[in-house]
Amino acid sequence: MLAKGALRRLALAHLEPTPENYARAYAEEAGTLSTRAKPAAPAGWAVLVERLVRHLERGGRQWTAARRKESFFRVLDGSRSDEERLAQRLRSLIELWESDRAGEGIDPIELAPDPEATLSGPMPHAERAPAADAQAAESVVRALNDAVCAGLGASDTRAAALARRLSALLEERRVAGPAGGTAGELAQACGDARRWFDQRHELVRQLTALCAEMSQGLVELTEDESWSRGQCEALRLQLAETVDVRAVRAASAMLADTRARQSAAKREREAARVALKQLLTGMIGEVGALQQQAGGFESAIERHATAVEAADSLEGLASVVHSMLADSRQLRTAIGASHERLQRDSGRAAELEARVRDLELELRRLSDEASTDALTQVANRRGLEQIFAEVSAQAAAAGQPLALGLLDIDNFKRLNDRLGHSAGDQALKVLASEVCKRLRPDDRVARYGGEEFVVLLPGQPLAQAQQALTRLQRSLTSSLFLHEGEEVFVTFSAGVTLWRQGETLEAAVERADAGLYQAKRSGKNRTCEA
Ligand code: GH3
Ligand code: MG
Ligand code: MG
Repeated sequence: MLAKGALRRLALAHLEPTPENYARAYAEEAGTLSTRAKPAAPAGWAVLVERLVRHLERGGRQWTAARRKESFFRVLDGSRSDEERLAQRLRSLIELWESDRAGEGIDPIELAPDPEATLSGPMPHAERAPAADAQAAESVVRALNDAVCAGLGASDTRAAALARRLSALLEERRVAGPAGGTAGELAQACGDARRWFDQRHELVRQLTALCAEMSQGLVELTEDESWSRGQCEALRLQLAETVDVRAVRAASAMLADTRARQSAAKREREAARVALKQLLTGMIGEVGALQQQAGGFESAIERHATAVEAADSLEGLASVVHSMLADSRQLRTAIGASHERLQRDSGRAAELEARVRDLELELRRLSDEASTDALTQVANRRGLEQIFAEVSAQAAAAGQPLALGLLDIDNFKRLNDRLGHSAGDQALKVLASEVCKRLRPDDRVARYGGEEFVVLLPGQPLAQAQQALTRLQRSLTSSLFLHEGEEVFVTFSAGVTLWRQGETLEAAVERADAGLYQAKRSGKNRTCEA
């Protein structure tokens, strides 16, 4: 009990548990020593003062006279209220001055005894080296500054303000030592940085929610089967999965690429439309001119009829017939020329019409691309939904089973880490193409997300589907591709289930996922039924 009390006394008085201090604290605790007892013997002080005076005037390379004085006052101010501690720290300081050479290359101010260091050591002589302490503090402050600047971006004014604040803090710490109250300020700076990052996270969360909301809204607003609907749907699916930088970058690239191609196709289609319109206008003009000529011929006929009635001689009649023949020849020539022009134009119109049709098909193809995964060229989530709607309807109508498998590459993260992301991408590509090649033509493959694929096996009972996937796994035992001369082997685990009539794709995938989990748990590279 007394021992515990003595230790508490030492801690409260910020004294080191040296044998002398402990003995004194114990005596105080036991009531055998007055708490007012002077800690240092007068003789001890006399020696100390003498040493101080002798060393204060002397200047070393590191500990110049000015620095000695400065550190002396710092120690004096720091321990004025505790004589014992003051004596102890002064003695340490003198030792530092004496070992001037040993302190070479280290900032003398930092070498000044750290009042906190003597307080915090739990064991006698376990003081932290003040210089190391100061250096550690400085590197922590610098790391904090670097982290905040990198997090906020160099152009953020808050980053610049924090850098100024931290360098002022370091300076203050250099001058006043760690006792100068910089720890509180540092904690506040950390708190501010944390708040800024929290705001950033919130901003990202809000932006993601906004993007999801916008793409969902657009899907609802756009016409069925339109290109933009496909785009919005693809975007929505991208954002619905775990959003990371790669997913957002891929979504932006997909939008930019298809938008560029779509606007080029649209421009061309517009030009073809304009040309077709011009052609039709020309043809209408042609028909109008023909009509006019025919009208002219009609009135000429009337004129000739009147002339025939009025003709009283054979010569007169012959001249009427003559001019009638000339008129009709002229009309025939005009009709023939017009017919030729119209035929030519109609050929051109047919060409243009075909081009417009092609371009419209191209636009529809672009829309379909929103259903295809750009990397693996198999259906993406949107494509899978379309395929599933079609295949499940057929299975229901024919009363045939429809098996669904969920495939997940084994240890894919390790492959990425070892060979790099682009090798990982290549593995996804080659695997998708191998799966397509090795399954039956009626089986459908889609990238469900990340390194997961869904396969739909129409007409296959569960056991047969399980065998088909197991066969697929066995066929992948040879290397999948070469990466920088190294053979890359990839395996996958799978869960397989039977689609139940009326259930959604998600419900069937969820059940298959249970099988997949089982396959992973039981050693991977296998297919489990669920
Ligand atoms: P397990 O055998 O349990 O499935 O382990 P795993 O490492 O395959 O599984 P995990 O889900 O931990 O890792 C999947 C990794 O797939 C993480 C992610 O970086 C990577 N990944 C997802 N999409 C892509 C992609 O498009 N390209 C590449 N290269 N990697 C991807
Ligand atoms: Mg996975
Ligand atoms: Mg995996």
